[in-house]
Amino acid sequence: MRIDPARLIDAIADCMIENMQELTELDAAIGDADHGLNMRKGGEALRADMAAFKAASLPQALQLAGNILATTVGGAAGPLYGSLLMTMGKSIGPDPDLGEVGKALVAGVEAMERLGKVEAGQKTMLDVWKPVSRLVAREGATVQSVRALAHEAAVATIPMEARRGRASYLGERSRGHMDPGARSSELLILAVIDALEFEQ
Ligand code: ADP
Ligand code: MG
Repeated sequence: MRIDPARLIDAIADCMIENMQELTELDAAIGDADHGLNMRKGGEALRADMAAFKAASLPQALQLAGNILATTVGGAAGPLYGSLLMTMGKSIGPDPDLGEVGKALVAGVEAMERLGKVEAGQKTMLDVWKPVSRLVAREGATVQSVRALAHEAAVATIPMEARRGRASYLGERSRGHMDPGARSSELLILAVIDALEFEQ
């Protein structure tokens, strides 16, 4: 698998900027209507450092992007996405195969879990990252299966009751809406898949 760090970060930044409206609407339903704005701010901060990403190796680019997201995005999501990328950057080599990407993703998701004190089933972004990381780490996962799982996992947050983050203040009333962080996670996973050149 060949991964161009600048292309990868560019795709992440575009995704964070382009989906502002939808993510804001989702957060308006069960949170404080800022998830889209927070993500757009992060995407713009990544774009502002594009020159650094062009000169970086994959591990350096992931760590830098994680740092930028942790410090600029704000809200609950910024530090969570930041720790995911920073930990992935520390766990991955400059020219990884799919198995190495899977291992780094699993390590990143574990860091997110610890930071958020969150488990699967609590209606958060973890409900997308956890199953997707498991699938990517498994031998023989296809691009199509990862895409489909990311979508199913985001949709599966709709009936859940939120147990973490602002949506948890709503209790039972948080049911019936997709978690905004789960949706942004799905969108990021699809954007990253599109940006990568898989050599399968
Ligand atoms: P805030 O909730 O501070 O306004 P955002 O709106 O940007 O921040 O992000 C909200 C999203 O963050 C939620 O939809 C959820 O997916 C995620 N989230 C919130 N708290 C946690 C947590 N403790 N662990 C994992 N994810 C969380
Ligand atoms: Mg919010």
